[in-house]
Amino acid sequence: MKLGKPPFRVLVPGRNFRYEQVDASHGFEFWQVEGFVVDENIHLTDLFGTIKYVLGELFGKEVKTRFATTNFPFVEPGVDTYLECTICKGKGCSFCKGTGWSEIMPAGMIHPNVLKMAGIDTKKWNGFAFAIGLSRIVNLRYQIKDLRTLTTPDMRILSQF
Ligand SMILES: [Zn+2]
Repeated sequence: MKLGKPPFRVLVPGRNFRYEQVDASHGFEFWQVEGFVVDENIHLTDLFGTIKYVLGELFGKEVKTRFATTNFPFVEPGVDTYLECTICKGKGCSFCKGTGWSEIMPAGMIHPNVLKMAGIDTKKWNGFAFAIGLSRIVNLRYQIKDLRTLTTPDMRILSQF
């Protein structure tokens, strides 16, 4: 944002590492696509529409999603995006921790202070940001019950993708 002038539409894919308790749906390394939009008159409904479009393309238009407000440091409001677990079809399993839903995309409206720090006039511009957990999307799309399967060095598994 500091290097250019709005409007922006940015996607940044990358490998991530974090301190994390490893289980069926959490890893210390994962792939993610972060993205953001900065333009005039961006609303939360633009974010919801974008997310539903992306998930509809990946999982089909009948995919069940839900949103919940949450607190993330660089967005206000913050939103968690949940997809009905495709592994258990919403019944509850170890991947979704028995909830029937999997968190796949933290998002929200970019906090005005973030835009100000980039030298952007918040009276004219606003935007939304999101992070798509690619590893979890792959698990849910192909009904892989454990995220660790994707990082195994077993070529019999990896050659399927
Ligand atoms: Zn499940």
